[in-house]
Amino acid sequence: MPAEAAAIGRKRSLAASTDRLASWGRYPKGTHAHVHKPAWNDELAGILKAAPPASLLPYGLGRSYGDSCLNTDRELVDCRRLNRILGFDESTGMLRCEGGVSFADIIGVFLPKGWFLPVTPGTQFVTVGGAIANDVHGKNHHCAGTFGDHVHQLGLLRSNDGLVVCSREENPQMFRATIGGLGLTGVIAWADIQLRRVAGPWIDAELAPFQSLSGFVDLSQKSNGHFEYTVAWLDCFAGRNLRGILFRGNHSAESAKKLRLKRGPKLPFNLPAWLLNRYSVRAFNSVYYRAHAAKKGSTLVGYDSFFYPLDSVRQWNLLYGKQGFLQYQCVIPESNVDAFPELLARIARSGMGSFLGVLKQFGSAPPAGMLSFPRPGLTLALDFAMRGERTLQLMRSLDDVVLRSGGALYPAKDARMSPALFEASFPRWRSFLPWIDPKMSSSFWRRVTEGP
Ligand SMILES: Cc1cc2nc3c(=O)[nH]c(=O)nc-3n(C[C@H](O)[C@H](O)[C@H](O)COP(=O)(O)OP(=O)(O)OC[C@H]3O[C@@H](n4cnc5c(N)ncnc54)[C@H](O)[C@@H]3O)c2cc1C
Repeated sequence: MPAEAAAIGRKRSLAASTDRLASWGRYPKGTHAHVHKPAWNDELAGILKAAPPASLLPYGLGRSYGDSCLNTDRELVDCRRLNRILGFDESTGMLRCEGGVSFADIIGVFLPKGWFLPVTPGTQFVTVGGAIANDVHGKNHHCAGTFGDHVHQLGLLRSNDGLVVCSREENPQMFRATIGGLGLTGVIAWADIQLRRVAGPWIDAELAPFQSLSGFVDLSQKSNGHFEYTVAWLDCFAGRNLRGILFRGNHSAESAKKLRLKRGPKLPFNLPAWLLNRYSVRAFNSVYYRAHAAKKGSTLVGYDSFFYPLDSVRQWNLLYGKQGFLQYQCVIPESNVDAFPELLARIARSGMGSFLGVLKQFGSAPPAGMLSFPRPGLTLALDFAMRGERTLQLMRSLDDVVLRSGGALYPAKDARMSPALFEASFPRWRSFLPWIDPKMSSSFWRRVTEGP
């Protein structure tokens, strides 16, 4: 056990004040941490000052799938009460807000005024701090880069230096370390974000089916020139006969028509694990493909169903049963796309298919942060119900393909990659070490840099 961890155990009786803040995949299970819930920055500064070395980690809305937002047997700083909007310039769309403000909050306040997020992931239930710390990407990566590309300045609260203001001009190295910095450089107290103008809440959307990987690449390349948003759903049971549907769209000029947001159902409890099996997932995928492949032409859809289809079922993560689930998101350089059929063949052979197979062609913008995940290539994300060693074995077999093809895994989705795969994914991670706040650590970071 490292000396810092021993110090933490000695100074605090964590058992007396633990809480179970989970990650979205609900795996790893049964992790505990002492949770601080500051509402003001001076409270936060006091927490940082009093903490032992390597004991703390900020926590947003827990939408990371694995353990990058967990700090088992140590401490979490729940940032959700640090959620004030601090300023907005109506002429430029520059927003200053605290790190705990959610994307749903920003949309709720600013979309009616004609402003939208510059980049958004597939859920609006993430915080600004969490989105910066994972440098999240969206369906417009090919033309807009990552969320970090639209952050102009941020205020970082550090245990040793107090509030450090950083931007591309001021403390630029600290800025690059904090974007995609996994919460390890300090707590993002506030950030300046450039919103983008929109006419209204509508998207002009289209669907296009494809039946091969080269078909996807062609379609995606052509679409990227005309559509701000492109992303594909993939039938991962199709094995080497890859097929899927490309979703593409632009913000619509429609401004008069009102959008009525529907409050979706909530999954009330864990579904039984047997419900998701190779037959039910295969049948779902087949019906889904046929239903969407038949649709032609452009339709006007609300931003909510275009960007956040999964948010319409609250707590959908309970779908995977008590053991939780894992997401596998990799990126493979385009020169090695032959790896995709191999990945899909291994998944099909395992019988552990996933409803949610997402494929996207990343753009070539240089990374905004030192540890940003997006890079030129194709990224694939798949969900798998956790079935113990069988699931972990499949993932190790996918890792072999990713490693061989010079690819990388996304920390925000990961709960089990090895230190070797982390090293291969982020070969320059050691240059990030000097920027870590001495009071910060995470379950993910210890796992990938210290090993089991
Ligand atoms: C349905 C769904 C779809 C998704 N789609 C995408 C996608 O398309 N693209 C994508 O990139 N990601 C996607 N994600 C992942 C998600 O966007 C990221 O994991 C995001 O970082 C979660 O934000 P959060 O506020 O929940 O942060 P958490 O998950 O709680 O924490 C994430 C990281 O941020 C750090 N952190 C949180 N707050 C602060 C703060 N104030 N200061 C410093 N560090 C902080 C934490 O320490 C941790 O390292 C998706 C997740 C879900 C559930």
